[in-house]
Amino acid sequence: MDLSSNMRVVVDSVKNKRGTHMSDIDLQAGKINHESEWLAVEDLKSKIQAKMDAGDMKFSNLATALEELNAALENSHTIETKIVIPTADYEKLKALGGEDDDLTCVHKAVMEFIKGGLSSVPEGKKKSIKCARCKAPIEISVDDMPAEIECPECGTVGRLKTSK
Ligand SMILES: [Zn+2]
Repeated sequence: MDLSSNMRVVVDSVKNKRGTHMSDIDLQAGKINHESEWLAVEDLKSKIQAKMDAGDMKFSNLATALEELNAALENSHTIETKIVIPTADYEKLKALGGEDDDLTCVHKAVMEFIKGGLSSVPEGKKKSIKCARCKAPIEISVDDMPAEIECPECGTVGRLKTSK
């Protein structure tokens, strides 16, 4: 299986600076949801043009949608990358992404990572136990559970009974 695929990920970094109303925008497709219809910049422009040609000047909401979409697209960043991962990890990615196409899976993963921030990355969790003899607290790493622990206070060596 060819695991390398060219990815094109558009990060949804859209924040409406006006803050009040935010339309549904699909950055990946470059479309805005306007009155239950997904429209690209060109679609909006032609709709506005059609209204103008017909002498209908009521296109302010179309113009607003166009403005919002343009602002969102200007405020987005396209990541062009090639990701090569082991088959096992690729299978996991597909499973987590709901077996969508590669791009959708990677997009989901990227967004989850961004939302969770770096805190979502496990950074060597510590567990505190107490020395059986002197009750001094001893910090051990959960990821790398040692079989024997020596108390830094009294030097007593204890064994961990926890199973991995
Ligand atoms: Zn001790």
